[in-house]
Amino acid sequence: MLQKVVFLDRDGVINRDSPSYIKNLAEFIFIPGSLSAICKLSRYGYSVYVITNQSGIARNLIDLHELNNIHGYLIESVHKAGGHLGGIYYCPHHPDHRCNCRKPQPGLIYKAALDNCIDISSSIMIGDKYTDIECAKRAGCKCAYLVMTGIDKQQEIYTKKFPLEFCRNTGNLFQAVDIIIEENERQNQQHEYH
Ligand SMILES: [Zn+2]
Repeated sequence: MLQKVVFLDRDGVINRDSPSYIKNLAEFIFIPGSLSAICKLSRYGYSVYVITNQSGIARNLIDLHELNNIHGYLIESVHKAGGHLGGIYYCPHHPDHRCNCRKPQPGLIYKAALDNCIDISSSIMIGDKYTDIECAKRAGCKCAYLVMTGIDKQQEIYTKKFPLEFCRNTGNLFQAVDIIIEENERQNQQHEYH
């Protein structure tokens, strides 16, 4: 059976974003409902991967040790809540480096797909920024959700830049997950009836 996969952006989707970057564990604060949303995905058989730009590394605002601390805490928190993260993929580069892994470039999704045998064309992205959705589009994901929990509040404008069937606007991660699971259940029922 095909692996059901959801890619999640980190800052502004799972935890509160900050214009001055998330530089240490103390600044990493879960958005209400995000942990239970990830657990719900796990419970319904989805593999969940975090895809995140962390240029704070290249900007010398945070070092790899502290980033690993944060990601260890994230993985552990999800685990304690009863869920599972398949992996966390981050781009440490500065935008000026023009790497192929900083979103909207699709490199991190390609890497996650290669490492974990993911069929990108059936996967879903959830992000709070235009670049998350553009990344999903370039990589060839099935669809994407733009959540309103980020610091940039232009989501409704961004959503309109993509085809209606590709990108939708939802309040937060938990609501996006509810829709994803509901639609999947409905499709499964349709398959059973025909
Ligand atoms: Zn990069």
